Amino acid sequence: MNVLVLNSGSSTVKFQFISTDLETIRQSADKRLARGTIERIGGEAVITAQLESGAKRHTTSPLRDIRAAIDHIVRWACSDSSGISELKTVADIDAVGHRVVHGGERFTHSALITDDVLRGIEDCIDLAPLHNPGNVKGIVAARDIFGPGLPQVAVFDTAFHQTLPERAYLYALPYQLYRRHRLRRYGFHGTSHRYVAYRYRQLRSLAPEKTNIITLHLGNGCSAAAIREGKSVDTSMGLTPLEGLVMGTRAGDLDAAILDFIASKEGLSIQEVESLLNKQSGLLGISGLTNDMRELLDEAHEHNDRRAWLAIDLFCYRARKYIGAYLAALGGADALVFTGGIGENSAEIRRRICEGLEWLGLEIDADRNAAMLSGREGPISREGSRLGAYVIPTDEELLIARDTVRTVQGEATRY
Ligand code: ADP
Repeated sequence: MNVLVLNSGSSTVKFQFISTDLETIRQSADKRLARGTIERIGGEAVITAQLESGAKRHTTSPLRDIRAAIDHIVRWACSDSSGISELKTVADIDAVGHRVVHGGERFTHSALITDDVLRGIEDCIDLAPLHNPGNVKGIVAARDIFGPGLPQVAVFDTAFHQTLPERAYLYALPYQLYRRHRLRRYGFHGTSHRYVAYRYRQLRSLAPEKTNIITLHLGNGCSAAAIREGKSVDTSMGLTPLEGLVMGTRAGDLDAAILDFIASKEGLSIQEVESLLNKQSGLLGISGLTNDMRELLDEAHEHNDRRAWLAIDLFCYRARKYIGAYLAALGGADALVFTGGIGENSAEIRRRICEGLEWLGLEIDADRNAAMLSGREGPISREGSRLGAYVIPTDEELLIARDTVRTVQGEATRY
């Protein structure tokens, strides 16, 4: 099956075309046909696409809305000029898989999109007002373009964490707030945590029930997950992606009374404070320079910038605290797994996070650690280290394509 994977935001659509089926999944022989992004939808949109061969295309086009954007990439992919031999006409696209940020408590697995499922996703807009509206628009647009007969599947960022026990997902707030508004921790990046946990057990030839690990997704957004017997039992993001680790521009954990304090001292509304916590904090806020870890490391090394070092230090310290907390929550784990742009590429950040954890049996192998970047996958701990450490590049789009195929073909989506 040729699957179009869509991640639709308010003014950006990320897409991939992936060819896969049940047998291909078993053999891990899925084929990526093309990938790309459309940015600045609503004006003169910028379209970048890359074929598996490496050939790149960069164009601009006035695209009014998400529907026009999806229509544009489908027409391009199915035209002779794209060079994608598997796609000759629109009829060669067999299904669409959508990344949906919030699935609330209803969606514990990926779901075939029906009118009822779409209503369920709309019902979650309250919980993710910044993300779910774009996802809904993407679904409606694809239905418009391909017709109601083409199967579409929603893959939720929150679904993997629906196995959290009450003690991990409840805030210690009046219980009625949970009952009335479903106010609780949901967690995000679930598709990424689930994918790297799956790859880890493949690498180690383990059954899901033997998979006891801590996964660290460190990108622009960052989150950790505690995984016991293959299931997520705790995770660092909460009701929204603001909670937990220090991120590119998000503060992560803080004292809730800070909101009112900043609002009154700085004369800001609650919405403005929330925006400050989401967009001007984290690495950017502390360093005053950038939210980009690579730039921050360069700045720290080249100019010994004090605040660049400080931001790096806060970032690594918070991640280390979560490792400690999750080891306690799990009663021990077999390995840490690093993923995301920072987790996959920065040996220095991985080393700094793991620093001082030798006492609990974590021995990082400096050579292995230094060699693990640019999409490489494997261990960075020493042979025989009691707690292992791995780098596993994430691939959320692949998992979305596979879930789409499995859901359409009626095979249960496994973790
Ligand atoms: P997103 O969460 O937006 O998908 P990514 O997972 O691509 O983001 O991660 C982006 C982050 O990864 C940026 O902070 C970037 O600087 C960082 N990064 C990428 N490569 C490196 C590297 N070689 N060293 C340090 N940081 C890196």
